[in-house]
Amino acid sequence: MGYQTEKEIAISAVIQAAKLCQRVCQDIPLALEKQDKSPVTVADFGSQAIICKALKEVFPDIPIVGEEDAEELRRNESKATLTKITNYVAEIIPSATPANVLDWIDYGNGKVSERFWTLDPIDGTKGFLRQDQYAIALALIENKEVKLGILGCPALSLNDDEKGLIFVAVRGEGSYKMSLTGENLTKLQVISNNDVSDLRFVEGVEASHGNQEKQNAIAKAIGITTDSVRVDSQAKYGIVAAGEAALYLRLPSPKSPNYRENIWDHAGGSIIVEEAGGKVTDMYGKPLDFASDSKMNDNRGVVVSNGLIHDVVIKALNS
Ligand code: AMP
Ligand code: MG
Repeated sequence: MGYQTEKEIAISAVIQAAKLCQRVCQDIPLALEKQDKSPVTVADFGSQAIICKALKEVFPDIPIVGEEDAEELRRNESKATLTKITNYVAEIIPSATPANVLDWIDYGNGKVSERFWTLDPIDGTKGFLRQDQYAIALALIENKEVKLGILGCPALSLNDDEKGLIFVAVRGEGSYKMSLTGENLTKLQVISNNDVSDLRFVEGVEASHGNQEKQNAIAKAIGITTDSVRVDSQAKYGIVAAGEAALYLRLPSPKSPNYRENIWDHAGGSIIVEEAGGKVTDMYGKPLDFASDSKMNDNRGVVVSNGLIHDVVIKALNS
């Protein structure tokens, strides 16, 4: 079995981060604003601190390309916020101090290289703030390929599952889900129903992150008859991998045509779908490039499917 140590350490770090996120969620967190105007919370920073600390200790030579950085938190005006973050982190890592929390967060500002982790400490922060879906997303990329992916989805349940799921996949070894306590390990398989009218498709909740009008028109064009299921974060990849939907469409928003997707928003989810038998490309059918930059500069949109309907979707998008 490959990547056993990486997998164990990464899962345990994601479980710890999930605990912090759930704790912050109980206290109804406030949104802080980043320079790009997107929201961030104390849980985004706390989750990144916990995961970076855990990975750094065991894999000091593997850089982490994470979403957050501690620049704003180092300012005097941010003292109260940093104290809050440190208190949450200390519930899980009692030795945490403001100084090492800052260092752990900034350890996540590594560079894309031959072997690196990419981390979204809270993917779907807007969903998290709405007490809805979010994911803690981590992936190991080696030689330009995602080798290991983990999604912690503390607010998600599928079928009769208890709320709180972890998705995990190692290249060549299949895709699995388990509870947040690491129990009920179940192998995942995408849906292989030939009757397209029975299939469901998922898209984001936030209209500004995609093109819902076009996404729905494409789903209809390929024969999907039911309304979309709207879900925040990479939980959508878990839903496709588990066979609960056949398609996830994320088409560029007409309001932000120059937006480029971040690698941490897709790397973890993509391997989970691929190892469950599905397919992930951009809207032109091109593989997603996770290894050139933290942004996927040469990709537009994302199409995630059960594989069987992929070519038809790409054709519909480009005719
Ligand atoms: P979702 O929950 O699927 O809407 O995805 C959340 C992610 O959307 C966040 O992590 C952001 O990085 C990303 N995002 C923000 N703005 C845009 C945009 N204009 N187009 C696509 N994705 C975006
Ligand atoms: Mg994200």
